[in-house]
Amino acid sequence: MFDNLSDKLDKAFHILKGHGKITEVNVAETLKEVRRALLDADVNFKIAKDFTTKVKEKAIGQDVLTTLQPGQLLVKLVKDELTELMGGDVAGINLSGNPTVILMSGLQGSGKTTFSGKLANYLLTKKNKKPLLVACDIYRPAAIQQLYVVGDSIGVEVYSEPENKNPVEIAQNAIKHAKANGFNVVIVDTAGRLAVDEQMMKEIAEVHKAIQPQETLFVVDAMTGQDAVNTAKAFNDILNFDGVILTKLDGDTRGGAAISIKSVVNKPIKFVGTGEKMDAIDVFYPVRMAERILG
Ligand code: GDP
Repeated sequence: MFDNLSDKLDKAFHILKGHGKITEVNVAETLKEVRRALLDADVNFKIAKDFTTKVKEKAIGQDVLTTLQPGQLLVKLVKDELTELMGGDVAGINLSGNPTVILMSGLQGSGKTTFSGKLANYLLTKKNKKPLLVACDIYRPAAIQQLYVVGDSIGVEVYSEPENKNPVEIAQNAIKHAKANGFNVVIVDTAGRLAVDEQMMKEIAEVHKAIQPQETLFVVDAMTGQDAVNTAKAFNDILNFDGVILTKLDGDTRGGAAISIKSVVNKPIKFVGTGEKMDAIDVFYPVRMAERILG
């Protein structure tokens, strides 16, 4: 993961590491390299520029050049700033409400259904919850079927109404079913399209309004770079979602999405998906991600 970015930053920091004495020119060159690495990782131009400007200001403020190990201090500043850019602390998931209602949003293929299963499995095995999965895709019978396969594999019940073409009703009925049957978390998997379209947005906005979820999560494929940012913005404008799920981080992906999405929509990344299996889910740790990016 993030090979490109890591390699580039490694090169940039190579100038600094091991040098007892560095000059203002070294610092400027390194930060330029950092900026280039961020741009190569698909980080938005303005974000990358602001980032390096901020690090430079801090470096000057802390008189980096006069310290004993200026290189290390600069590396630390970059790491801290990168951590901050990705949200700083770990963002938890809100499990209040009885049942807790979690609405999944995102484009088709982003990994919504897979992640719904992973989250149900995580809540079942790690948080001692009794989750219910809800199939709210009224367009693709295969999507409902896929959720059943996922549910079966983790031993979690799936609620669906294959004949009902009203996703608001299905979601509301599912919550009633959950209350009547002792489920304390309801995970609503919604229909996605291949691109943002008006009807999909209208539909999910209606479901959102009707069920008032404790958590609205936006699922996005980390491999989609700048597009991920545009999609995040479109969904956030409609749903004002609570958190982001970055999937497919096991693939040959760049780190840009993690950085840019947080900066553009100012919502925390809560979990990452690292594979197709049900246990391939990790809480998102900004500091770990920053360390990984920087190598
Ligand atoms: P949906 O259309 O948003 O519900 O997306 P799916 O859950 O059907 O996922 C689309 C494809 O991506 C499937 O083939 C999944 O197995 C795969 N997938 C989902 N999450 C991950 C992940 O974290 N890593 C990898 N490698 N594949 C994933």
